[in-house]
Amino acid sequence: MPRRFAEPRLVVASHNGGKVEEIADLLAPFAIDITAAAALDLPEPEETGATFLANAELKARAAVDGCGLPSLADDSGLAVEALDGEPGIYSARWAGPERDFNMAMALVNKKLNEKLGDGANRRAYFISVLSLAWPDGHVESFEGRIYGTMIWPPRGTGGFGYDPSFMPDGHEQTFGEIPYERKQRISHRAVAFQKLIDGCFRD
Ligand code: IMP
Repeated sequence: MPRRFAEPRLVVASHNGGKVEEIADLLAPFAIDITAAAALDLPEPEETGATFLANAELKARAAVDGCGLPSLADDSGLAVEALDGEPGIYSARWAGPERDFNMAMALVNKKLNEKLGDGANRRAYFISVLSLAWPDGHVESFEGRIYGTMIWPPRGTGGFGYDPSFMPDGHEQTFGEIPYERKQRISHRAVAFQKLIDGCFRD
């Protein structure tokens, strides 16, 4: 049984404004005081793990060590089947220091075309691992995925990161076109969150 979360305050150990906003919205029903790591001037640890799980745990633990409060971290990314799971844990890094996701989406598309030509297997999934770390060292982690197809050119201006180039299965719109509220219900982060809520937040 996962440990239940019974603290009044939680730090979201992410410096990505888009993610902090999504996480705060998803936790809104639980009346917990949410603080972003950036607001506490917590440094961003280097993501040295080899997996999403290792990086999520590392980020959550680093935030606990920095502020003494329970902390929640998300490590997420895009895994493209024909690219053997790339960009994977390097999803943010493919956008370069300027975090240029038009460039990162173009790079994914270029690599896909080099490997496969147009119209071949463009399957991919977004993955999110959430790690909740307590000050006594305990950690609970949960994983969510959503499968879909990489499309080109990107469509839509919503979301962030690779959203405009990813079309989830069963939808005709990309994550950049799907309304925010719907993405919030179906995304990889929503799936991981549901598991976190069922495991740690519900009575
Ligand atoms: P992290 O901050 O190391 O977890 O980096 C995750 C990266 O994966 C982000 O910077 C995005 O590039 C990508 N990513 C994760 N979740 C999403 C999403 O919901 N939409 C689009 N891109 C995402």
